[in-house]
Amino acid sequence: MQGYFYQQSAKVPEFGEKRAQRMEIAEAPLPPLAEQKRQATPVEWTGELDQFVASHVCDMTGVAEMKPEWVFEGYHIAQSRVIMLGVHHNYDAIAKAPEVEAGLQVVDQYIRAARAAKIVAGWIRTQGWEAEAVTGPMTGSLTMIPPALACGFGELGKHGSIINPEFGASFRLSAVLTDAPFAVTPTRSHGVDDFCQNCRICEDACPPEALSAEKQVVRGVRKWYVDFDRCLPFFNQTHGCAICIAVCPWSRPGVGVNLAAKLARRAERSAAD
Ligand code: SF4
Ligand code: SF4
Repeated sequence: MQGYFYQQSAKVPEFGEKRAQRMEIAEAPLPPLAEQKRQATPVEWTGELDQFVASHVCDMTGVAEMKPEWVFEGYHIAQSRVIMLGVHHNYDAIAKAPEVEAGLQVVDQYIRAARAAKIVAGWIRTQGWEAEAVTGPMTGSLTMIPPALACGFGELGKHGSIINPEFGASFRLSAVLTDAPFAVTPTRSHGVDDFCQNCRICEDACPPEALSAEKQVVRGVRKWYVDFDRCLPFFNQTHGCAICIAVCPWSRPGVGVNLAAKLARRAERSAAD
């Protein structure tokens, strides 16, 4: 399926050029491992990730304790920590979905996510700890949405993407695996689940009707479900589609934070009644 996707997008040469740029970043060697292992508290380690947001290497970071169920069958991940990195799409570009501009914006953000993972992994190695960068969209051993949910990036929306209060569903992920003793960051709930129960925007906007009005039980867990047999043919013909991400109200600049605050006030009032 991925091969067909690449075959389709080969019709626009810019995709190939950008993907080559991403591969170059992903395959670049990391700096050598420092001889001395830096000792710091878990909270100090995690606090230092703020420098990468401050310098715009990425737009958010979080840390989760690695879980075996996040590893694809046939793979093994030995590291105890997964550091998640998020990079925000340019809204004007992603709002053009499913046009080519939106697809190119997605590749641009995968380039940035790959660079961020390499920079963070490189920094950890200069502190004397092993680290491995995991770059998308094909992530090898690790499925990235579950650790991103666990480390507080947001909640799963009806469209199957994470919704974050600051960036909506409009961001991409990469990760770093390490045993450096980072403190885990807490999960975050900001009312998305209830909101999605009463919103149909992505459902109505999805051309192949791949999004369900109701949650379904998937491998024993009741959750929002994307019918990929419907989504993927359209996704592949439109350079990655992204309509559901673009139309989600949380993705509009400035909307998510206010919406989360409003939902929090409403929840407080209901708890007080
Ligand atoms: S990516 Fe496109 S086709 Fe797939 S679920 Fe979203 S809107 Fe539907
Ligand atoms: S468009 Fe509406 S239903 Fe779909 S994920 Fe966003 S908030 Fe939820």
